[in-house]
Amino acid sequence: MNLLKFFHKYPSEEKCLAAYAKIRLKQGITCRKCEYETKHYWLRTVKRFECKECKTKTSYKANTMMHKSKIELQKWFILIHLMTSIKKSMSALEISKQLGMRYDTVYNAMHKIRVLMGKRDNRYQLSGTIEMDEAFFTTVDFLRDKDEPLKRGVGSQRKTRVLVLVESEYTGLRAKEAKRYGKASDHKKNRRMGYAKMIVMDEDSTSPTINYELEQHVDSTTNAISDDARNFKGVGNVLNSIKQMKFDSKDAMKRLPWVHTVISNAKRMANGVHHSVNKDYLQNYLNEFCYKLNRRHFQRDMFDGMLAASVSDTWF
Ligand SMILES: [Zn+2]
Repeated sequence: MNLLKFFHKYPSEEKCLAAYAKIRLKQGITCRKCEYETKHYWLRTVKRFECKECKTKTSYKANTMMHKSKIELQKWFILIHLMTSIKKSMSALEISKQLGMRYDTVYNAMHKIRVLMGKRDNRYQLSGTIEMDEAFFTTVDFLRDKDEPLKRGVGSQRKTRVLVLVESEYTGLRAKEAKRYGKASDHKKNRRMGYAKMIVMDEDSTSPTINYELEQHVDSTTNAISDDARNFKGVGNVLNSIKQMKFDSKDAMKRLPWVHTVISNAKRMANGVHHSVNKDYLQNYLNEFCYKLNRRHFQRDMFDGMLAASVSDTWF
């Protein structure tokens, strides 16, 4: 959906309310007095749902991602649209200027959307063959330096560890044959990228911690390939197999092409668009990055999916 189509479909707060009410009625509304899902009516004039049984009224934002939010619904729609339709990530500063909204308001709302994106992707586990690696993102720890002024780039710069997992199936094409299939370098065409996950890790990433994350995010029939990093020794008993390869760093792109591509693109997003990323929010930025990456081939509009998800996911 491009911007023109978006505004054609949602030209006003009323239209957005009507669309949102329809989604909520379809998904079902739990009455807080009856304490179970009852039939509700949408009362357009007071912007509330009414329980058919006991007449208790429920706000249209109650128990959704927009719970108690003062942002108009149309602005939420625009935020979701911008964050799902634009391939690259947009900064809160840029959007706050475009929408004439306060920076903090936009910043917080965008993070809620990123949390939702993460919840969606956490429903799926990776499978098949995965490339596995660890990356270190430059982040800023504002809490640790709370006496310092919160200026851009000021704060204690540090590296935050991220576990990166990318499905990567061998296509069986030899380098020469692969070359015919496009511009991407040969070794990439040897492997086809599937879904990706990026998980912010604790400072010490011992094998039990890594195994715990693998258990959450990867199917137990999966085969992993990685470099010979010491961290990965003793990792993988939750998987079918793990193959650690020893190679020169200059061959990294050849041996683990997709995990390295994902890491460098994610770093460009984090440092290029959002500058000094707060370490507590790094996971959210990575959620957005992976959410879009994982849906790059989807024909269906991501906007509708996110809108429906903002209602159905349990927020409270
Ligand atoms: Zn009721």
